[in-house]
Amino acid sequence: MDSEACVICFKHCCSRAIFCKQVPDDCPLCNSAIADYELEPFRLPYPFTKAKESPVTVVIRPSIGNFLNDYNVTDDLHIGIVDSEGFVWEFDTPGLIKDDFLNWENCLAFKIVPQSWTDHWDQILRRTCNNRKWSSINYREDTLNCFDFVLEFLKALKFEDLVFFSKEEFCQQFIIPKIQDALKFITIYRKLRDADYFVAS
Ligand SMILES: [Zn+2]
Repeated sequence: MDSEACVICFKHCCSRAIFCKQVPDDCPLCNSAIADYELEPFRLPYPFTKAKESPVTVVIRPSIGNFLNDYNVTDDLHIGIVDSEGFVWEFDTPGLIKDDFLNWENCLAFKIVPQSWTDHWDQILRRTCNNRKWSSINYREDTLNCFDFVLEFLKALKFEDLVFFSKEEFCQQFIIPKIQDALKFITIYRKLRDADYFVAS
């Protein structure tokens, strides 16, 4: 994690949360020297992770750029699956790609199955990858892309009711609810790029 992505939260004289990179001597709200807190300073959990440190997960990242500095909610996301050894499998214009660690160092990782499902996860992933459908000649930006690969994997996985019929349905029901905390972090982080503190309204 780079040190710039450190965001600290505290409350001083009222219930409004103050976000900063470093706790100031004087409170930005009441201007008095800070002796004690309404809420002790704590570091916001950094929401992003390296795919290779997140085995057995579904991972997403912006198609272009990174979450912290570049991502807007209307931007395209790229999605992949991490096996139990930390290799990312993804379907893109060159076909099926394994690994590519460097592009997955600041992604969001979703753990959706319990530990006991690990072997089954790997097995279904291997079976899905063996399908010749996932070759470069079949890739279509709109109709057969990284999301279709993941949706087909989830369908074959048969874990609870994790079956989605379209990318839109998958994003609405699965992705968007899971990225809300990360979006809040991004918003605060960007406000603190140009200011010493930010007060939640
Ligand atoms: Zn104060």
